[in-house]
Amino acid sequence: MPFSDFHGNAETVHRLRDMLARERFPHAVILSGAGGSGKYTLALMLAQAMNCLEPSETDGLPDFCGRCANCTRIAQAADLDARFTEAVEARENMRETDKKETRLFVQSHPDVLVIPPDPPQMMVKVDQVRRVIETIYYRPAEGRERVYIFTSSAFIKEAANSLLKVLEEPPDFATILLLSENSGELLPTIRSRSMTFQLRALAAEEIETDLAANHPEWKPQQRALVARLSEGALGRARSFDLAAYVAARADALTLLNSAVRAGEHGELFKVTETYRPGAEGKEKTEHLVHALYSLLRDLMFVNSGAPQMVCNSDVTGELVKLGEAVDFEWIAAASDRLAEVQRGMRRNLLRSLSLDAFAVALERN
Ligand SMILES: [Zn+2]
Repeated sequence: MPFSDFHGNAETVHRLRDMLARERFPHAVILSGAGGSGKYTLALMLAQAMNCLEPSETDGLPDFCGRCANCTRIAQAADLDARFTEAVEARENMRETDKKETRLFVQSHPDVLVIPPDPPQMMVKVDQVRRVIETIYYRPAEGRERVYIFTSSAFIKEAANSLLKVLEEPPDFATILLLSENSGELLPTIRSRSMTFQLRALAAEEIETDLAANHPEWKPQQRALVARLSEGALGRARSFDLAAYVAARADALTLLNSAVRAGEHGELFKVTETYRPGAEGKEKTEHLVHALYSLLRDLMFVNSGAPQMVCNSDVTGELVKLGEAVDFEWIAAASDRLAEVQRGMRRNLLRSLSLDAFAVALERN
């Protein structure tokens, strides 16, 4: 996975690699940009380039191999959502006293620490920054550079002040990468000690154009759908599993229709029965939840007179019919219920059971 696999923002990537080449990479870098613009992907790539055991050059600039022990271990942190969920689950299974003292980290390589915001407040806490302070002055163990990646710029005030102390005197062999959707929320003193790079999410039209070349087998309407669902992230769009999404969406529509037409459960149970426990069922349920969220958001657009915002434009007819049967409160309640299903999934409740409960609870009386 060398830099050529990073899509978009070519100029920014070039500048960052150029600084690597000149050994002028700043100790603190803010990667700022909307969700889907590739901040985390790029941060891990930089960590790999800094620590690759078989560093190479492409286009005259430093690159990484993606295959050596350092590259592959750093890449294990790539699925941030999954690693984050694992860390949260591990903490939830601890004794109460240990739980309080345990802060969240994602670490797949001894020299690269990923610091996600800590739930439920989803803020970076002071104890997380303390871990950075405790380790940053030790020379890297297996790489050349210690890399710290903060995946959010929402800091508790005390945590921000602690970070500032590190930025005042960073060691030569450490780099701090701050990822931010809104760098304005960082302390001005943190910003002034960092170099900020802006990453742009791609417009849906740009992604559609790319998909026309990369997925000519998709119909234009499908490409438009994928472009909107992938929220500006080209990599996500290119690897989008359209067949799985369309199947999940068909089930999601059955669920919503069943909820709206109270009393008829035959079809609903036929669908929910196919959602079994286990790894495969989990992935299938995740697709379903994703499709349900997307449909609920579209229903909101349809009912507020903004049909041009609809993602699932190929099923607009069905959405309009559904929309006539529900109001704003119903859609909001459905989103809340769906969040409950997700929480239940984390606790491994029987999936089909919680899906039935979801649909039945939404029935209109
Ligand atoms: Zn490598």
